[in-house]
Amino acid sequence: MNCNEKEVLRDTIVEINLSCLGSNIKMIKDMVGSDVALMAVVKANGYGHGAVGIAPTLMENGATYLAVATLTEALELKKVYPDYPVFILGHTPDRLLHHVIDNNITQTVFSLKQAQLLDRLAQKSGKKAVVHIKVDTGFHRLGKEPSDEYAEEIADIFKLDHVYAEGIFSHLALAGEEENKNQFSHFMDFLDLLEKKGCVFRYKHIADSIALVDYPEYRLNMVRPGALLYGMRGFHTGFLGVKQALTFCTRISQLHRIPAGEGVSYDFLWKSSRDSIIATLPFGYADGYPRNLRDKGFVVINGIKCPIIGVLCMDQVMADVTDVPGVCEGMKAIIYGDGTDGSMTISEAASLAQTNKNDIIARISSRPPRVYTF
Ligand SMILES: *Cc1c(COP(=O)(O)O)cnc(C)c1O
Repeated sequence: MNCNEKEVLRDTIVEINLSCLGSNIKMIKDMVGSDVALMAVVKANGYGHGAVGIAPTLMENGATYLAVATLTEALELKKVYPDYPVFILGHTPDRLLHHVIDNNITQTVFSLKQAQLLDRLAQKSGKKAVVHIKVDTGFHRLGKEPSDEYAEEIADIFKLDHVYAEGIFSHLALAGEEENKNQFSHFMDFLDLLEKKGCVFRYKHIADSIALVDYPEYRLNMVRPGALLYGMRGFHTGFLGVKQALTFCTRISQLHRIPAGEGVSYDFLWKSSRDSIIATLPFGYADGYPRNLRDKGFVVINGIKCPIIGVLCMDQVMADVTDVPGVCEGMKAIIYGDGTDGSMTISEAASLAQTNKNDIIARISSRPPRVYTF
């Protein structure tokens, strides 16, 4: 698929370098080795990269599963790629479980009741429901805590004829080394107990991006990187040379030449201190740019840092481009880049907006077209 053949209907775009994404996933695969399967996390529209657009690159470079958070996300992928293995990390309400069976999606479960429902639906369709069981080792988000009762429930799931309990997993709170160790050992103890009951799983997993780099011993035989695929480096002790695959950019719609003392944007919260050239840029907070970057945000035009001035609007922002030699309408402005040209990286945006990198990329809305380069 070459998305670049499509006409791009806007100047504000999210550009994704698929070669970079491909080499990121290859680096992760090389690091974990061939005995560890890779579940590529593409929830929230592939962390803003476009789940459907990046799916082939991830599959062709060794992903065993594409993981999403919700049924809606799973169906979006299955509609285009019915044969790609898709996993739902979150809960699917009972009334919607038939979609999971109809579309051959692997589902997270944490009760015998859910498994029994899937069993009946699968039987009707002459299929086998594939599930991974979620264990709560301390995060207290999804799954049940390890206990004899839960072990009994899981043993009963194994007895269902139309359910294949392919995997079991948990999630770390990453609260600290000590806390991680506790969670991991709860998980391993529970796996031991289950194994004694004859419940053996093909896949066991607990490590997200940070854990898989910082704690090689937690990789088990499957890892679930999200951030790392996209080049977000949040780990503390390990090293992996993944690179940011995404560039967010736009072009100047209009230039205004204003004298000193003029106010710009809502409430005139910014006023020119000199005769200025102001550029209107066609992106705003509805595209997912943090509105709280007022007085902090900037774009880079021809290598020159241009501060975003005044209140950010829903669809447009203004920048002071007085210092850009030969500035003209239509010039390209980098909103988020790889930093080499002085552009704001995702990491810098996260710290300026007082949030994390995943939030910055996941909140880029679906409005700007995704353009894939190689
Ligand atoms: C989102 C998510 C991941 C991926 O997290 P990253 O920190 O982006 O690697 C892994 N596992 C679960 C259960 C998740 O919800």
